[in-house]
Amino acid sequence: MSQHADTPSSTLSAPTVLVDATLADGRRVDVFLGDGRITAVEDHRSEPSGDSRTGCDAGAVRLDGALLLPALVDGHAHLDKTLLGAPWQPHRATATLREQIADERALRKEIGVPVADRATALAERMVALGTGHVRSHVDIDPDVRLESLHELLGVRERFRDRLGIQLVAFPQSGVVTEPGVADLLDAALAEGADLIGGLDPAGFDGDVNGQLDIVFRLAERHGAGIDIHLHDGGETGTFQLRAIAERTASLGLGGTVAVSHAYALGDVDDAELDRTADALAAAGVAIMTNGPRHSMLPVLRLRDRGVRVFAGSDNIRDSWWPYGTADMLERATIIGLQGGLMSDDELRYAASLVTDDAAAALGLSDYGLAPGRRADLVAVAAGGVPEAVAAHPQRLLVLHDGRIVGPAPHAAAPSGGALDLRGER
Ligand SMILES: [Zn+2]
Repeated sequence: MSQHADTPSSTLSAPTVLVDATLADGRRVDVFLGDGRITAVEDHRSEPSGDSRTGCDAGAVRLDGALLLPALVDGHAHLDKTLLGAPWQPHRATATLREQIADERALRKEIGVPVADRATALAERMVALGTGHVRSHVDIDPDVRLESLHELLGVRERFRDRLGIQLVAFPQSGVVTEPGVADLLDAALAEGADLIGGLDPAGFDGDVNGQLDIVFRLAERHGAGIDIHLHDGGETGTFQLRAIAERTASLGLGGTVAVSHAYALGDVDDAELDRTADALAAAGVAIMTNGPRHSMLPVLRLRDRGVRVFAGSDNIRDSWWPYGTADMLERATIIGLQGGLMSDDELRYAASLVTDDAAAALGLSDYGLAPGRRADLVAVAAGGVPEAVAAHPQRLLVLHDGRIVGPAPHAAAPSGGALDLRGER
C-alpha cells in the first residue's frame, strides 16, 4: 500500500458503486455514488458472476465484505510543526513549557525545510490513511507572525480535492503576555483562519479573564469557532473549563467551542469531575483527547454525562514528540488502551471519536454513510468496527467527494472492468 498517494485531481476516478461493503451495523450492502455524494445504500445481493449491475461495471469497485466507514476525522493536528519531510531530528528535552516553546522557535529557523513542504508530507499521509478532514492549529507568534498561516492556506487550497482542512489561529507563545499577538490573531481570522485558539489562560498567561476576553471577542467579531489548548491540571484546570463553559453558554456559542486536552478532567475527584462535565455538556463545549499517557480522560464517564468527546493526533513527529503516524484508527487504538475500553460497544465508542463525534465537533455538514451525504469514505481490511479499532488494519480504498484519492489501488485496476480489492486484503 502506498503511504504517499499523490494523485492529480484530473486523473481521480469516481466509482459509481461500491459492491459488497460491510457497514458498521454489520449489513452487507452496495453503496451507489454520484456527483460526489452517496445516492443509495442497498442490501447486497450475490449475483451471477460477469454481468450484473454491480458485478463488472467500469465504475464498480468490489469490496468483498470489507468494512466501509465514513472518512476518518483528525480533530487536532499541527501541520506547521511536523518535521516529516525533513531529516530525522533527535528529540531535545527541555525542563519547562516556556523552554520547549523557545526551543521550537529556534529549531524552526534551523530546519531549513519550508512549512508547506513538511505540511504537505503529513497531509499526504493523512489522505492515504483515510482521513478526510483535519483541524490543524497553526502557530501565531511575534516571530513567525502570519507566515505559517499563509503557507497552510496554500496547502489547504492544494488539497481541496482530497482533504478538508480547518485552521485554528493558535497563540503558542501566549496572548496576554506576548505583545501584538491579539492583533495578529485578529488578522489571521480576517485572512482565512476558521477558528481562534488559546493556551492555558491561567498557567501560561496568568490571566484567565484577560485571555478569554480576547479569544471570545475575536470569535464573535469574525463568527469563528474556538479551540483552546488547556494543559493546566487539577482544579486550576476545571475552574477554567467552567469559565469557558459559562462564556460559551452566555454568548450562545454552544457547538462551536472546543477545549483540547483538558487534562484536569483526568486528575480531579469525582464530584469536581461531574460538576465540570455537567457545565461542559450544558454549554455545548466539546473536549478533544489524543489518549495521553498521563491524566487520561475518563471518556466513558464524560460520554455518559453528555459531553461530546473527540480525538486528534496532536503532535506528529515534531519538536514536542518524536512519535506519531497520522493514522486515526491507530489513535482510536491508543485511546482505547489508555481509557480501558474493552467491550465491543466501548470499541465502537472509540471509533466514533475519530468519525461521527469528531465530525460533529468540527461542525462538518453532510458527513456520514447515508444517502445524500458526501461520499467521503474509507474501506478498511476488517470485518467490523471493533476489529478496526483493535487492529487499525490496512486501508483499502479512500474516497473524497466521491473520487478515489488513496491508497491508489486504481493504479492496478484493469481498464474497463470492475476494480477488485480482494487481492489487497
Ligand atoms: Zn496541540
